Amino acid sequence: MPTNRRSFLASATLGGIAAALPFSSHAAVSSTDFSKLDEAMNRPVFKKEFFISPVIIDTIELLRYKDSFLCRVRSKDGATGMSVANSQQMKYLYPIFVNRIQPFFIGKDARELESLLEEVYVYDSNYKLQNLAFWDPLATLEFAILDMMGRIVSKSIGQLIGDKIYHTSIAMYQANSERDITAELTVRHLQEQLAGSNAKAIKFKLGGRMSHPEFPAKRSEQLIPLMRKTFGDDMVIAADANGSYDVKEAIRIGKIMEQYQYEFFEEPVPFDWYDETREVAKALKIPIAGGEQEPSLHNFRWLIGTDALKIVQQDQFYFGGMIRSMRVARMAAVSGKLCAPHTTGDGFGYVYLAHFISAVPNAARFHEFKDLSKGLPFECKTSSLKSENGIVKIPTGPGLGVDIDPEYVKKHVVIKE
Ligand SMILES: [Mg+2]
Repeated sequence: MPTNRRSFLASATLGGIAAALPFSSHAAVSSTDFSKLDEAMNRPVFKKEFFISPVIIDTIELLRYKDSFLCRVRSKDGATGMSVANSQQMKYLYPIFVNRIQPFFIGKDARELESLLEEVYVYDSNYKLQNLAFWDPLATLEFAILDMMGRIVSKSIGQLIGDKIYHTSIAMYQANSERDITAELTVRHLQEQLAGSNAKAIKFKLGGRMSHPEFPAKRSEQLIPLMRKTFGDDMVIAADANGSYDVKEAIRIGKIMEQYQYEFFEEPVPFDWYDETREVAKALKIPIAGGEQEPSLHNFRWLIGTDALKIVQQDQFYFGGMIRSMRVARMAAVSGKLCAPHTTGDGFGYVYLAHFISAVPNAARFHEFKDLSKGLPFECKTSSLKSENGIVKIPTGPGLGVDIDPEYVKKHVVIKE
């Protein structure tokens, strides 16, 4: 049994804390003590002290060219910021952006971004839309505003949302997303993927996804030992069930993962089975990871405070931006838990992930890497934004630190309604 394997769980920066609080321990915060979490959740995130004079938002434009969506923000003084939307979602959700979010921000002082994000949730009864449908368009706007603000004061987005820059690069894990193929073929595909990426950690899919039976039958229990046998004791291995199991089956599968020294078990039961997630966590030693579908800050508070999750995986687009995501990371930090954000492979998804991680002290040591959209021409002077031997450099500022080709931007037209 390996004792010195690399670990997702050992944060480079919080090494001391992670070492003192192994994930099999619930010692950091008692199940009923939410006061530390509340303090962490309510601490201001956005560094408005960097800005001396008002930054009044003059225009917000959502631009479209085919299935590409860009958001451009301009201040009264002529500062601009831009973000790339998650097109998979925005092609259906742009009316929410244009009609329910955009009007609220016009004429407001962007230095108050943090409170504006809370107010827009109530504006026009937007809270009734709470879910990806509301948070994804709001995140798109937040990223453009953060880009503008960073460019004004020559700071990276990470510097605007964090106490300091904790990470300048990210070690990636190689993910395989396949189901419905044999265990042997899954392993072979992962071997091919690893030959390209040289990652030191892997993650693959278990079960049939959201309570569906898996195919071929018994694939999970074949795959778990086969992965360890193939890749050896030094490989960090995790698996994601995407809500495939009920409590009893999740515990049975989790025990096999424990036997083969797996690092974490992601979404063992459907994501909104909160009590059941906690039940599985209590029965197992292996840390439970989750949160990529979670839209509610208050639900995260419960999931963290009751030890249902030991690794939080909020998605910055799906969860409504970096400021909200930082609140979750901070609650996790004060509970001795780690943050391994979920990311989508569309547009600049990975660049936003990278900036966010730069500012998270309790970031896990390995994160998913997804290539940026093909056909999105950009220039980044500080990073290739590619995995080099399993490591991706985080761009430095100002703002996003990435510029989209102006000729490409010109192809887009403003969406009016
Ligand atoms: Mg997942």
